[in-house]
Amino acid sequence: MKNDIATCSPPPLLNLARVLIWVNTAAPAIYTGNMLVFEGDERLGQVSNLAICQHFGDNEKVLFHCNEAWDVIGCSGFGTIAELKAQAEIVYRNINKSWQELAIGKEDAESFLETLFEEEICLFCSKRLDQVGQMFSSGEGMICNDCVSKFHHQYCPDSPKDISEKEESL
Ligand SMILES: [Zn+2]
Repeated sequence: MKNDIATCSPPPLLNLARVLIWVNTAAPAIYTGNMLVFEGDERLGQVSNLAICQHFGDNEKVLFHCNEAWDVIGCSGFGTIAELKAQAEIVYRNINKSWQELAIGKEDAESFLETLFEEEICLFCSKRLDQVGQMFSSGEGMICNDCVSKFHHQYCPDSPKDISEKEESL
């Protein structure tokens, strides 16, 4: 059977993670349904595209399951590229040779993010919205959750240890 699904490459970022390699799941790949990927309570079936992505400041890679328009529908795990490729091979047999690299470097993806979050930067630590869990706005400026908990801990030293401390020990 001929594959008539148009193969188009992904955008530089999916869910704010940089796309490293991607693949279309059409033939010669064969969907086996051998892995359970859940999106909410729904079991995720066959998707059009897969991408192995990496969040900035994170070493681990993530496998995203995407529709034809490259919307992320599900995420099936974290690991190295080899581990995630092996995982994909279980669900889509013969897909191994079809992975393609995205010709967009880290700097390009980073500057894409800078533009995207130009206005959403913590006034205290200069992190972008995508680098923190949450950002609080006063209308005049923004502060991230890491800084809030750091200041809270300084102000109330007896409060439970938090995220900012974990980061320092890394
Ligand atoms: Zn901050």
